[in-house]
Amino acid sequence: MRIGVIGVQGDVSEHVDSVAKAIRDSGKTGEAIAVRRRADLGRIDALTIPGGESTTISKLLVKLDLFDEIVRRAMDEAMPIMGTCAGCILLSKDAGTQAEKTKTKLLGLMDMAVDRNAFGRQRESFEADLDIEGLDSPFHCVFIRAPAILRTWGDCKVLARYQERIVLARQKNLIGSAFHPELSGDLRIHRWFLDLV
Ligand code: GLN
Repeated sequence: MRIGVIGVQGDVSEHVDSVAKAIRDSGKTGEAIAVRRRADLGRIDALTIPGGESTTISKLLVKLDLFDEIVRRAMDEAMPIMGTCAGCILLSKDAGTQAEKTKTKLLGLMDMAVDRNAFGRQRESFEADLDIEGLDSPFHCVFIRAPAILRTWGDCKVLARYQERIVLARQKNLIGSAFHPELSGDLRIHRWFLDLV
């Protein structure tokens, strides 16, 4: 299998490393590659969209002619995509007034509304051990200026909450995470993702 990591901005190398390690750990053969050109999208079986700055990533996806092809492959071919933090914002259908003001174009693939920078300045970054549906012990979650998922509808299922807010959701081939599973050294969420391929 070949797993792409959108490589235009954000914590790209952490994602490439953790995806490569998850492939090895799960006994599968394959590689993780950074995706920067449209041709790269034709070579991959699944995609992760890292954290970073969602407005910037969105603009670069459009500029580099990646945006429409990501949407097409997700919808027509059910290509698995995992979006973390900024990537989760881009997967959503609604990212509120901040996204509207900055004219951030969303991929709009998951039935969920998110709130950017939902945890405020005083706790821009924090960590928490959270119960996640389908995992038998808590997962150490790293939040960095994280969004919260405000609500889900349709086929989008809630998998974890922090206090009252949704922080992990799945809709068929798509996973949206407000935290950074690539930063905790725990690859259980990555392995789920690889199992979708
Ligand atoms: N706050 C960022 C945004 O709104 C996301 C932060 C992150 O990806 N670590 O795009």
